[in-house]
Amino acid sequence: MNVDKIAILPGDGIGPEVTREAVKILQTLSEIDSTFQMETKEFNWNSDYYLEHGRMMPEDGLDQLKDFDAILFGAIGDYRVPDSVTIWNLILPIRKHFQQYVNFRPVKLLRGMESPLKQDNPIDFVIIRENSEGEYTDSGGNMFHGETREMAIQNTVMTRQGITQIAEFAYQYAREHGLTKVTNATKSNVVVHAMSFWDRMVEEIADKNKDIAYEKYYIDALAAYFVQRPKSFEVVLASNLFGDILSDLGSAIVGGLGLAPSGNINPSGEFPSMFEAVHGSAPDIAGKGIANPMAQIWSAALMLEHLGRRDLHDAVLTAMEEVLEEKKVLTPDIGGTASTVEIGDVIAGKLKKIM
Ligand code: ATP
Ligand code: MG
Repeated sequence: MNVDKIAILPGDGIGPEVTREAVKILQTLSEIDSTFQMETKEFNWNSDYYLEHGRMMPEDGLDQLKDFDAILFGAIGDYRVPDSVTIWNLILPIRKHFQQYVNFRPVKLLRGMESPLKQDNPIDFVIIRENSEGEYTDSGGNMFHGETREMAIQNTVMTRQGITQIAEFAYQYAREHGLTKVTNATKSNVVVHAMSFWDRMVEEIADKNKDIAYEKYYIDALAAYFVQRPKSFEVVLASNLFGDILSDLGSAIVGGLGLAPSGNINPSGEFPSMFEAVHGSAPDIAGKGIANPMAQIWSAALMLEHLGRRDLHDAVLTAMEEVLEEKKVLTPDIGGTASTVEIGDVIAGKLKKIM
């Protein structure tokens, strides 16, 4: 029997609160379905750990994670530790070391949720964002030649391998999910070097997948179309910067941070992938027991799909949709009065009925 080994990094603030509920759901699933067995190990690498040890994780931290099948990550962020420390010494090393070059974000309006756009269902697409290069590299510099001539340069780094592998992932995802179209987010009319190269590489892959439609929009127009006709997208492929911006826009049109999951994926499976809610540690509500755990539960569902259990992913989403449709047990961010723990309990209860 296959046992999935899952590393749990609860993190700071509401991270541990929402992660506990996600683990509760995973445990419930393994109780209901004997073919899903897991082994979890928790790592306390957060801001408290940093204040005690002067580092975000032990020296061999990445080595400790490498044999896990997946990582479930809470959120990191604490007013006592600069973001530069937490991000650059924990999240980015994990993403980079484990070649998690895909950032995966579903934009799906769950049944029972209303979009601020007054669009009805189905808004249901995914954003596949390049997660390792592009506009977010530390290549560049600030040049001091006296105050008036001071200047800064930030380079975009695009490689054939980097673009090809993210485009291939987008097409493979489309194929595996019976989707019919990939939309390329670009700006090659103005960012002539990097984005023209991006387009050329993406189109090489599009040409090898002619049974799946390909379209390309400039990022400014595409942002408007997200608002005007979100139902027309299936798979949106974007560079690091454009994907970052589109992802936040995407989560806003389907219910906000309490319901925004993500995956940092290493498609080869050679290294563990990492799943995390999009939201941060939310210090303003931490410790109050009112954070919405649905984003983290959904992230755990994405993890299940990545581990080959699309059936369990679908069951979790159905259970969440039933809870949202009933509108009886909801956290304050989406108009209710229930606690974090109550949401976990009610979703677990639904799963026991559905499965
Ligand atoms: P970070 O720097 O850690 O990303 P941030 O300031 O960008 O933090 P979040 O921590 O994501 O932002 O929080 C933004 C706002 O959304 C806060 O008011 C927070 O309370 C709210 N929020 C975030 N996540 C949730 C959640 N799961 N449930 C309810 N409210 C949330
Ligand atoms: Mg943030």
